[in-house]
Amino acid sequence: MIDNNEYVCDVCGKRYSNLDEYAACVARCAAKEKDKRYKEERERKEREKSTRLAELREVEQHYVDLRERYIKDYGAYSNNRTFNLSNSLTDILDAFLY
Ligand SMILES: [Zn+2]
Repeated sequence: MIDNNEYVCDVCGKRYSNLDEYAACVARCAAKEKDKRYKEERERKEREKSTRLAELREVEQHYVDLRERYIKDYGAYSNNRTFNLSNSLTDILDAFLY
């Protein structure tokens, strides 16, 4: 941006009378801004991933608790043909083979 015959960096607001210095400032500031936005986005994604993982673990724990309660009251539990990673290998094979 040009203001009163001075070049003003749109990112940091520094003023320059020399066009090359102004251009170097804009390039430097643009690179910093890009890096800052990249880091912010990466941090946002990490926070989101942690939240989603916590949600999954909460549901898994609820499932485990319900299953244990069921087994305690009725002796055994089988979810028949429903595939679930917490099943034993036999249960998983049963789900695919039968
Ligand atoms: Zn600047």
